[in-house]
Amino acid sequence: MSGDRDPADALLDSDDPLADDATTDGGAALTGLFAPERVAVVGATDREGSVGRAVTENLIAEFDGEVVPVNPSRDEVLGLSCVGSVADADADMAVVAVPPGAVIDVVRECGESGVDNVVVLTAGFGETGAEGADREQQLRSVAEEYDLNLVGPNSLGVMSSPRGLNATFGPDAPPAGAVSFMSQSGAFVTAVVDWAKEQGVGFKDVVSLGNKAVLDETDFVRAWGDDPDTDVVVGYLESIDDGRAFVDAARETTDDTPVTVVKSGRTDAGAQAASSHTGAIAGSDRAYEAGLDAAGVLRAESVQELFDSARALAGGDVPESDGVAVVTNAGGPGVMATDAVGDAERLRLASFDDGTVERLGEALPDEANVYNPVDVIGDASVDRFREALDIALRDPDVGTVVVITAPTATLDFGELGEMIADAADEHGVPMAACLMGGGRLADARDVLRERGVPSYFDPARAVGGLESLAEYREVRGRSYPAPEPIDADRDRVREILSSVEERSDNRLGVEAMEIFDAYGIPTPEGAVVDDPAEAEQIAEGIGEEVVMKIVSPDILHKSDIGGVKVGVPVAEVADAYEDLVSRARNYQPDATILGVQVQELIDLDDGVETIVGSHTDPQFGPLVMFGLGGVFVEIMEDTTFRLAPVGCDEAAEMTEEIDAAPLLRGARGREAVDIDSVVDAVRRVSQLVADFPSIVELDVNPLVATPDGVRAVDLRLTVDPEELESQS
Ligand code: ADP
Ligand code: MG
Repeated sequence: MSGDRDPADALLDSDDPLADDATTDGGAALTGLFAPERVAVVGATDREGSVGRAVTENLIAEFDGEVVPVNPSRDEVLGLSCVGSVADADADMAVVAVPPGAVIDVVRECGESGVDNVVVLTAGFGETGAEGADREQQLRSVAEEYDLNLVGPNSLGVMSSPRGLNATFGPDAPPAGAVSFMSQSGAFVTAVVDWAKEQGVGFKDVVSLGNKAVLDETDFVRAWGDDPDTDVVVGYLESIDDGRAFVDAARETTDDTPVTVVKSGRTDAGAQAASSHTGAIAGSDRAYEAGLDAAGVLRAESVQELFDSARALAGGDVPESDGVAVVTNAGGPGVMATDAVGDAERLRLASFDDGTVERLGEALPDEANVYNPVDVIGDASVDRFREALDIALRDPDVGTVVVITAPTATLDFGELGEMIADAADEHGVPMAACLMGGGRLADARDVLRERGVPSYFDPARAVGGLESLAEYREVRGRSYPAPEPIDADRDRVREILSSVEERSDNRLGVEAMEIFDAYGIPTPEGAVVDDPAEAEQIAEGIGEEVVMKIVSPDILHKSDIGGVKVGVPVAEVADAYEDLVSRARNYQPDATILGVQVQELIDLDDGVETIVGSHTDPQFGPLVMFGLGGVFVEIMEDTTFRLAPVGCDEAAEMTEEIDAAPLLRGARGREAVDIDSVVDAVRRVSQLVADFPSIVELDVNPLVATPDGVRAVDLRLTVDPEELESQS
């Protein structure tokens, strides 16, 4: 990676999602994996309990193409005649279930005989240690040499419902539908397939990603974005290997196909080693959060939420408003649903217009509630329910509907289910049914599952499903403009960063504040000096009182050792200088002391200390953080992250997102700070770290925001010397 990217390149990157990803297969190329004509099973066998037998049986069961067992030591497997090698199978896809040591040769043979689609079920690769990792590397090279679409190794296999393809060794095939599912865990595939039958979730394609030696989440998210039969993409992911490529692919897909994932492994390792506030707060989960958000991917917190969201999204209708109508025949559950709507960040209770209220009044008995939540009361017939629904659904503020029923003696629940599904079809408004009962409501549940209307027991889950729709509505309306280019003195920054090469450590502090000037980020007046007389001279030029700080790469947090003096009168500057140096010596006798910074005193009374920082994530690259700053950053942890660089709009969102946002916008008689200058500083810092990958961590803490503008008063950054070397 080059050290410095031209802003024009940055523009190009964001304009062209495929710009740096030319090696990955396009969507069309993966159709061979899910809709092959002839599938060779290499390692097919009759032996009970073997993977080779299980996958052959599954393929024979429903596949409407041909299955060719490959096994040199057998004539026949499960009644099908065998060929001796994959080269003789004339297949367009191969499923490989041979021992690990034989996989590479088989895959090479696939390449040589033109079998482009290969699914390696065999385990014993990267997941097993050094030898396995080596084998996986070889597998990758062979796949690259022949340009194979290779799934696995260590995969449960792939399935695709339109052609009845079940090339897995799992116990079942899933019900057909429009959800395509990728999973980094094979066990999770079998669990979900089994459970999906009861849940009314139907699948188009399913892939167990295995070790992702070749094809990974990015390839599938892109392929399914181009697949007209996939309405929703669902993922169970433990890692995303190339975060930026995933973001580019997912942005294209989420334009018309929602993507929702559960990302497991949320606890952070590695954050401890950080030497900046930002590094300490930014764990990999913050990076995933920022990355998935940038990708327009919805993130579920649990498996239940993942599939609740998938069921809601599978309906295909996107709401036109975030207003929710609740129509119920039971008061209590109606209140629960109303509460859940209130708790949902992206939903609100729809407010009916006068016409709606009037029509509901005419249609419903006197005891009914005609305002939202609409209570059609316990003796409601299917017709009364329907009438109320029709009226509510026509209200312009209604984007989604929750229909709630408790078991009552008057209703035929099969009929009720049909009515709800009819209403959903006719109005094209997403609906969630809340069937608060067990066996008595089974008919309704069956009908709704059959007709693709999500139903739940719990009102909160019904509302949760609808919230995914609201979230997707927001994602789909997004545009991803390239950040506005920034004019900067990049040569000067390169020079300053390179100065670490002459030092014993990789950290820079306030002595590098000229970087701010180079990127147009305002700083207080000041200078770093190395003798008391000079300090006095600088102070005289600044004002009556100044701030003085020890400058040493060995002192991370200056104020922790009394290394910051705020409000020093000019007459005391020389003494203060000596005092700061002796404090540093007391703290660490052999500390490298570069001098003392003399700085203009900023009036903090009507200012807010904010922090702008950055951290380089191994998967997602540079992240930019904004939050409430000062010395208690880690305690407050009121921060938000984005992938760097950000433009003005994204930077503005960041300033609105933190809990302390009202502080910036003026609260309790305080004047608002100049928010535009905060936004501008955030985007400039984000561009700086995007331009210089050698900056692996950076804190601007505090960036003092006042009604008159911002000033960056402190700086700490860590340089990766290896990236520096590759810097031009
Ligand atoms: P460190 O973070 O290493 O302790 P800082 O330079 O951030 O050192 O200073 C610590 C605190 O001192 C800041 O959070 C701020 O409250 C105050 N401070 C620092 N510089 C100034 C300044 N120029 N004007 C006013 N207050 C300052
Ligand atoms: Mg600081």
